[in-house]
Amino acid sequence: LLSPSPTQYPSPFSRLVRFCISTLVIGEHEDGFVKPSTLSAVTAARAISQDNIISILLGGSGSTLGKAALHAASVHPLISQVLVADADIFRNPLAEPWAELVHMLHQKSGYTYIISASSTFGKNVLPRAAAILDVSPVTDIIEISEPHLFVRPIYAGNALCTVRYTGSDPCVMTIRSTSFSPPSCSTDVVSNAAPISQVDVSNFNKEKQKSRWLKLNSQNTERPDLGSAQVVVTGGRALKNAENFKLLEKLAEKLGAAVGATRAAVDAGFVANDLQVGQTGKIVAPELYMAFGVSGAIQHLAGMRDSKVIVAVNKDPDAPIFQVADYGLVADLFEVIPELIEKLPEK
Ligand code: FAD
Repeated sequence: LLSPSPTQYPSPFSRLVRFCISTLVIGEHEDGFVKPSTLSAVTAARAISQDNIISILLGGSGSTLGKAALHAASVHPLISQVLVADADIFRNPLAEPWAELVHMLHQKSGYTYIISASSTFGKNVLPRAAAILDVSPVTDIIEISEPHLFVRPIYAGNALCTVRYTGSDPCVMTIRSTSFSPPSCSTDVVSNAAPISQVDVSNFNKEKQKSRWLKLNSQNTERPDLGSAQVVVTGGRALKNAENFKLLEKLAEKLGAAVGATRAAVDAGFVANDLQVGQTGKIVAPELYMAFGVSGAIQHLAGMRDSKVIVAVNKDPDAPIFQVADYGLVADLFEVIPELIEKLPEK
């Protein structure tokens, strides 16, 4: 099932299949849907070559996996097939079994590229997979200039580096999903879908695994995911405490926004560290980014400077955040946020 079946490709080219560019996209899914960041990885794979034969790999177990596979299949014709590794061991994002799975699939199908989004999951799995495959990964790609020529940010986004991959296949890479728009999926899922194949994981050695999944602590919130939200409202150290962050949460509710934070706010314990935006936090590029009491340190800018519209509220007119802001307001956030909450209509 794993080798590309000649029947899946137009007959004149079927014998050429193994000489074509083929890509394995490591997929992530949630609640029965493929994550937008995975779809961005498909866009990146397509940017390598229009003839790229793209497979999306999904793993896990349960009914949401099947639903996510159908969702992935609807990305047809951009992708050629969906590979499903249905086993409990892939339910959680543990790097060890996932990296072995990627290795096993590459042994069988010999991919030219293996790609994932530069998410926590991708950053965990792909370097390990690359080490097993004895190749050097190229990470955080924001532009694909040629099939082996990539652009990636360095020095916290203050410089761009052009990298030529000269290693052997597969070229293992992670991409910044904010730089590649996700493709739209076909609405005609039944007749216009890519084939879904089960990966044979019966010989997968569970005993060999050195890591064990204990539990997931996640914030139970109705708000959109920080990484893919259209609007993000971020608070800095100036919010002073966790109680004041609730003001920002109220504003986020009115705007249907995700809440972000600077590292200073996270380190001070105002909010959980999964809200951190920046070089060592999440990279976001929403339509609207609102920064309240954020100075604009380069490490913070590295995580949000690609946002479409940036609004900054800061008491200090010389705060560096104003250099990247489209709209700046020199004011006290404790006056501005309540006023915004009062004046904005209910969602
Ligand atoms: P401050 O720099 O203290 O700024 C607070 C701002 O609030 C000031 O500009 C002040 O004028 C303004 N202010 C104060 N009171 C009010 C008020 N009432 N109304 C309006 N404005 C007010 N930081 C990140 O954010 N993300 C990262 O991923 C990250 N990674 C890092 C990695 C490394 C290796 C290092 C060394 C640092 C990293 N940092 C990161 C930290 C970064 O350098 C800054 O220290 C941090 O971003 C500052 O956070 P802040 O803007 O909340 O705080």
